[in-house]
Amino acid sequence: MTTLHTNLVGDAYTSTHHWDLLCDLVDLDNRMAGQEGEVEGAELVKDAFETHGLREVAINEFGIPGWWRESSSLTVEHDRTHEFDAQHETVALPGTPSGDVDAELVDVGYGLPKDFEEADVAGKLVMASSMTPDDYGRWIHRAEKYGAAARGGAVGFLFRNHLDGNLPPTGSIGKEDGPGDIPAVGVSKEVGDRLVRYCGSGETTARLTVNCRNEPATSRNIEAVVGPDTDEEVLVTAHVDAHDVGEGANDNGVGTVLVAEIGRLLVEMEDDLETRVRCLVFGSEEVGLFGAYHWAETHDMDAVKCIFNMDGAGYSRTADVYTHGFDPMGEAFAEVREELDVPVEIHDKIRPHSDHWPFVQKGVAGMQGRSIAGESGRGWGHTHGDTLDKLDVRDLRDLAVVFTAGVYKLAEADREIPHKSVAEIRDATVEQGFEPGMRNSGTWPFDGEGQTTAAEADR
Ligand SMILES: [Zn+2]
Repeated sequence: MTTLHTNLVGDAYTSTHHWDLLCDLVDLDNRMAGQEGEVEGAELVKDAFETHGLREVAINEFGIPGWWRESSSLTVEHDRTHEFDAQHETVALPGTPSGDVDAELVDVGYGLPKDFEEADVAGKLVMASSMTPDDYGRWIHRAEKYGAAARGGAVGFLFRNHLDGNLPPTGSIGKEDGPGDIPAVGVSKEVGDRLVRYCGSGETTARLTVNCRNEPATSRNIEAVVGPDTDEEVLVTAHVDAHDVGEGANDNGVGTVLVAEIGRLLVEMEDDLETRVRCLVFGSEEVGLFGAYHWAETHDMDAVKCIFNMDGAGYSRTADVYTHGFDPMGEAFAEVREELDVPVEIHDKIRPHSDHWPFVQKGVAGMQGRSIAGESGRGWGHTHGDTLDKLDVRDLRDLAVVFTAGVYKLAEADREIPHKSVAEIRDATVEQGFEPGMRNSGTWPFDGEGQTTAAEADR
């Protein structure tokens, strides 16, 4: 006997609710945090929750440092003047200030801490790769490279992609309360490789011009509940905001539509559900997990049994989950793997990225649901290439079944999922080598009372 009734599985395998909602979300074109598309995306999610029969459907607003893209260009002097101002060559990174700087261009390779120690970046335009070598031991986030450049006195920052396809990478470098310190753009691998060649053959100067608007904005979370009126609840989450350069189909349209689909399937089996489930779609993940921090700061964490956050799912049907050491959550998914006889990858490592992190850092039991992707790194994510055509409704159906079964088990009354102390989470984060990078990018949350939100946390 499986957790989900076979007729419900049949329903899930003929469903197009998630795919249809995904089409509507990508057709908004731009769901950037605090902007019109995010507002409309929230309305679409709200409508889906209502249509599917979830209760207490609500949208709750909060403030964020808003950022609007205008134009940017990079002009490089090397024998002649080269202009890189097309969208496939450069894109401004969200949270950058406006600026117009003219300086020597310095290539710091991967932008590892030792690369910055060896380079003199004061007064220079600094370029670092989006890649971290496999043997380095820990992944170096964009925000850490940007922070090292700014602290070293650089006047501008270029983030070059390591993946082909004329796809400049985006990603926020803003701070909790406003823009970052120096102007920053992503450049495609093709432009980046050319600039590496120029830097290697003599002094190269460049002019970086970034125009954008930094103003306070309003973002929102969308939520609804299903199941009995219990003291505790299980949170099922994702984020509806997306970077403006692509469609945000995978990151995180998929997570958003899976929240709605899991909610729909749970409504179908509501009488059997033993703990209330809250379907919760955050705003403003990509610019600093603002929606998740806002929710965690304004609710009683003792009432949260656990959080299951989907971000990074959709490029295959094979679920890939991270438990942060909350073993009973992993056990629930191991049972699903057994029952359905399908592969589910279960890891017990910390992932201090995405919307579960504001909860996990407080000791709340939390898990990230992803799916196995063919390549390492972000792949199409955070580029113009994050579009619907890379996805397949059959993968959404498989993931919906596995994740719904997992959530159902998390909600079982006799399945105890104890929280951990903040010290235990901190120690695990230190042990797993995250501390230096989080300190370098100003996102280490364990020193004082305050919460930290910053771009480092994205996915
Ligand atoms: Zn994401």
